[in-house]
Amino acid sequence: MKYPFLNLAEVNAPYLEELRRAACRVIDSGHYIGGEEVTAFEQELASVCDTDCAVGVGNGLDALRLVLRAWMEMGRLRRDAEVIVPANSFVASALAVTECGLKVRFADVDSLTFNLDWNKIPLTARTGAIMPVHLYGRVCPIPDSLPDSVLILEDNAQAIGAGTEGRHTGSLGHAAGMSFYPTKNVGALGDAGAVTTSDPLLAAMVRTLANYGSDRRYHNLYAGVNSRLDPIQAAMIRVKLAHTDAENALRRENARAYIAAIQNPLVITPEEPLDNPMNHVWHQFVIRVTDGRRERFMEYMARHGVETAIHYPVPIYRQPCYGAEPHSPLPVAEMLAAQVVSLPIGRGTTPDSARAIAEIINEFK
Ligand SMILES: *Cc1c(COP(=O)(O)O)cnc(C)c1O
Repeated sequence: MKYPFLNLAEVNAPYLEELRRAACRVIDSGHYIGGEEVTAFEQELASVCDTDCAVGVGNGLDALRLVLRAWMEMGRLRRDAEVIVPANSFVASALAVTECGLKVRFADVDSLTFNLDWNKIPLTARTGAIMPVHLYGRVCPIPDSLPDSVLILEDNAQAIGAGTEGRHTGSLGHAAGMSFYPTKNVGALGDAGAVTTSDPLLAAMVRTLANYGSDRRYHNLYAGVNSRLDPIQAAMIRVKLAHTDAENALRRENARAYIAAIQNPLVITPEEPLDNPMNHVWHQFVIRVTDGRRERFMEYMARHGVETAIHYPVPIYRQPCYGAEPHSPLPVAEMLAAQVVSLPIGRGTTPDSARAIAEIINEFK
């Protein structure tokens, strides 16, 4: 048997007819930038995320950096502010900060939730914002005890639809950036991203900055960028958003099958959030392989037909682009970077194949 990590054609196969119809609708409309399709997408996304506003942009990195940039232009974030980012995330979380000329402060994470460890965040007088990442699809809850002056920007690239009852990711902070990169839990058929917020002034500023900084045609208030969401991608994502809860539920079933079946003293499985299973949409199913045996484990899995991946092999502060300033090691981030392995969990994986993969794992020595 072969167990591929993720096959994007398989991800989209259940929706091919709907996707084709939606693509044709855009082609026939003659509107290829902005317009009704993007507006409808923005309303639907805001509804999924429990926010008042959503703004479609070009990709997830742009969504994050445009929020920071907007807060700077609005005078809410000082140009010398520090932004706290978990060290165990995709590099884009940090790039959004440094691209704005802000200072990134890396924080350590929790070994059980993989998310920011709020007891260890490096808060200083210069902290302007914190970027909790809902990593692997698990909600990173935001404590009430933070200073009012600190802005919270959720990186919701991996957890759309996580949460319950008016408390979905995307609405837990002051704003959120999300990505619809094709492999994400809500994937477009190309690059796409969005910002959600219930602050209409912020939404308007993001929209302006994403459109060359112009509030009206040929009037450029800010030195903006071009980062618009294409209507054809908006149409693709609208199809996917309608099925997000069902897709998230399928991955939750797979996660439960893995958790129940994996029994190997060398392997630590993630746990479902005990308070509320809806707080995890399992964008990735990430185990830890201990005793320095990760490389052997991945080779062993590959020999048995199971494709695995590592999210992420290096804490962001050790990437060459940030390496010029040596960073003291953050112990949990370092440990995770050395131990984590992602198993197949998306479309193409079923509870049965998860159990078969678990049996292979249980034989690993
Ligand atoms: C994918 C991802 C991003 C960036 O999204 P793009 O659309 O690829 O720019 C940012 N943060 C996290 C955590 C991601 O997984």
